[in-house]
Amino acid sequence: MAKDLVCGMEVDEDEADAQGLVSEYEGEEYFFCSPGCKQAFEQNPGAYVKAQ
Ligand SMILES: [Zn+2]
Repeated sequence: MAKDLVCGMEVDEDEADAQGLVSEYEGEEYFFCSPGCKQAFEQNPGAYVKAQ
């Protein structure tokens, strides 16, 4: 499981991948529970990565 850094939910990597809810930032992959969380992350990835 991976952690959705936006809402803090546990996310299944395979499921997120199948739904395109994956974002890459500085060579790391991040997984999200919903398009809204992915979008929020992509608007300011540095803030979420630093806060994790
Ligand atoms: Zn989320």
